[in-house]
Amino acid sequence: MKIRTKSVHTGVNIDKTFNSVITPIYPTSTFFFDEIGKNKGYDYTRSGNPTRAALEANIAALEGGVNCSATATGMAAITAVLFFLKPGDHIITGDDIYGGTYRLFNAVLSPRGYKFSFINMRDLKKVKSEVTKNTRMIWIETPSNPLLNIIDMEAVIEVAKKAKALSVVDNTFLSPYFQRPLEFGADIVVHSTTKYLNGHSDVVGGAIVYANSQLQERGRYLVNALGVSQSPYDAWLVLRGTKTLGPRMEAHQANAIKIAHFLEGHKNVKKVYFPGLKSHPQPGLIKKQMKGFGAMLSFELNTAKVPLNKFFRKLEYFALAESLGGVESLIETPWFMSHASMGPDGLKASGITKETVRVSIGIEDAEDLVADLNQALKG
Ligand SMILES: *Cc1c(COP(=O)(O)O)cnc(C)c1O
Repeated sequence: MKIRTKSVHTGVNIDKTFNSVITPIYPTSTFFFDEIGKNKGYDYTRSGNPTRAALEANIAALEGGVNCSATATGMAAITAVLFFLKPGDHIITGDDIYGGTYRLFNAVLSPRGYKFSFINMRDLKKVKSEVTKNTRMIWIETPSNPLLNIIDMEAVIEVAKKAKALSVVDNTFLSPYFQRPLEFGADIVVHSTTKYLNGHSDVVGGAIVYANSQLQERGRYLVNALGVSQSPYDAWLVLRGTKTLGPRMEAHQANAIKIAHFLEGHKNVKKVYFPGLKSHPQPGLIKKQMKGFGAMLSFELNTAKVPLNKFFRKLEYFALAESLGGVESLIETPWFMSHASMGPDGLKASGITKETVRVSIGIEDAEDLVADLNQALKG
């Protein structure tokens, strides 16, 4: 089965009572037993729910994993995965990871004894040199947010395997339609399904996809014990979203390519970060591990000519908002919004400036989007 077929057909059609084509929502907290020890596979919704199970089967198939846990948010998924470890364990990760992940690692888990190295993971020598006898996890986010740097998944996963550490990839930015880390040997893939997998900006959710059954067992145990599983209503919405993942990703990407070229040619734009441009410095890695470029791009705005607030105010189709991956275009400033929790030093170290603008390209008409940016860039 090809991925577009999987996204429509996997995990659905679970209702044999009425043969509903669409997976029903099972809004029940508990399930009765026919007799002691005998039920129909579910006992309590925190631990398992048929609607959520349908979504889990669907996402697992898209990523090529043995199974998946659907969680309340992306951060819930990430939190649960960090509970595979314990205080004293060492984690290697990037210096430009998602702001919320950075906050969890740096402000919540570090004071509890987890040890982190936040490094430039494009530098493979640096990754290798950070490994200690306590290294238990390497956390990869590629392409990175917001500067779209690419990390060599295969090489970094190899380092993790040698160190007997878990390799985890946050695949939110590309979705399994454009990148499947398990094919490169990753142990676990996490998602904020809030973004492309759901795709309609109407729910928050997360997912943990497991490469093998031991990881699945531990992961599912943790998600239940921590109580971070997703509600059946939200799971149903995400399952509706994943069915159109392929066509949406194609439409997002086609628009992003056009807009990236337009921005690159504009005199008030200093630089554009987008994997689909010839100017991206890592074409080899893009070809090796990505099946597409996605639709997240960032650029450096000449704010002496076009002040940030004025630019944002003039835009008609790009809402000034954090988040990404929905059908509508969103725009924001990582320095002041999505990545503010990194603090000025962290921001500077990762190459983000006050002029960096991040855009999530939606599926509107490309001509309308370009015209809108064009009028706002006049300053
Ligand atoms: C949004 C996001 C998260 C967090 O997900 P939530 O659903 O907001 O909790 C994690 N990683 C990446 C890359 C994200 O974009």
